[in-house]
Amino acid sequence: MNLLIENAKQIVTCHTKGRKYKAGKFQSEIGLIENASIYVENGRIKWLGKKIPASIKKLNIKKIDANNKTVLPGFIDSHTHLVFAGDRANEYSMRIKGSTYEEIAKAWGGIISTVKAVRKAAKIELKKLALRRILSSVSFGVTTIEAKSGYGLDTKTEIKMLEVINELNRESPIDVYSTFLGAHAFPKDKSGSEYIDEILYEMIPLIAKRNLATYIDAFCEKNYFSVSEIKKIFKQGIRFGLVPKLHTNQFYSIGGIKAAVECGAISVDHLEVMNSKDINALRGSDTVACLLPAVSYFLDIPYTPARKLIENKIPVALATDFNPGSAMSENIQLTMSLAVQMLKMNIEETINAVTINAAAALGVSHNTGSIEPGKQGDILIFDTPGYRDIIYHFGVNQLDKVIKRGKVIN
Ligand SMILES: [Zn+2]
Repeated sequence: MNLLIENAKQIVTCHTKGRKYKAGKFQSEIGLIENASIYVENGRIKWLGKKIPASIKKLNIKKIDANNKTVLPGFIDSHTHLVFAGDRANEYSMRIKGSTYEEIAKAWGGIISTVKAVRKAAKIELKKLALRRILSSVSFGVTTIEAKSGYGLDTKTEIKMLEVINELNRESPIDVYSTFLGAHAFPKDKSGSEYIDEILYEMIPLIAKRNLATYIDAFCEKNYFSVSEIKKIFKQGIRFGLVPKLHTNQFYSIGGIKAAVECGAISVDHLEVMNSKDINALRGSDTVACLLPAVSYFLDIPYTPARKLIENKIPVALATDFNPGSAMSENIQLTMSLAVQMLKMNIEETINAVTINAAAALGVSHNTGSIEPGKQGDILIFDTPGYRDIIYHFGVNQLDKVIKRGKVIN
């Protein structure tokens, strides 16, 4: 698709200067250009600057007047669980009234209730629900999204979820990246070691053979998967060509970060509970810290020490963690507001965290996440005179247009 976006008041490029991500002080640099235009050719950014060359001006192509508007790279939601069935509003309502986790698990089942609903749901139903959620994410500016399995906890249903994610990548207007999260929880109907064997020797080889996932993820936490189990699962995943990512340090620090970095994980996600060993393990590695402040908000648990991570030059990304139990919102702009208000990240750091650094958390920052020649034409136009207004004017969606590979999709 060819497209000219003309006369934007501000273009926030999130320029990389050739790097994969932004860390430390560089995370505050957003590469602002004022009163400028962008030309997208065949879905890729071809030119960007203040004075449109005559050769572009004379082209008979679609033009968008961005006068008095702000242009940003498309947002990337690098951590979601958007494929699910069922409803946990009852559980939420009980939690708000003061029920404990145990009481909720007993009455409603917690994550296991979602597992039951997903096992029962037909593939077409799961896909319909997930597509609606993706379109909702797009309406908040998401042009690339990641989605995990992990509500099947048996081979048949994990495969069903991954098939849905792959079909959504083909059929939805945005890129949908697929993560195998068999090690999300232990199923009730088999022993722990039986289930880990199923992950290692049934699920991983089958998923790799059918090319159903790019990443392999797990939940490293007390009473869930231990560090030694994670290492086994990652080792097997890597053998079959999957890239590790890890849910870790949400409630306890049990060594998940060190293990993930040793396995070459592309990101470690959550990190609400961090000690100096965890920071040291991350510092100097290429692993992106992906923070999920909507979970802290929704569960009323501590927020990740984002400033400490940024001070230690660790690249920070932000994602929604959209899921029915701990963050029931696909609104990435809400995550951005929480990052500024609760994580004390500045507006510039926050914008880089949902664009270029989120792309790095998926290993795709060479292709998207910034407005630079050669990158995919994934672009947002906000009806605001400046980028700060997007977060300053909170709780209101001021998005005017969402562009994916040069095509207006919302
Ligand atoms: Zn998650």
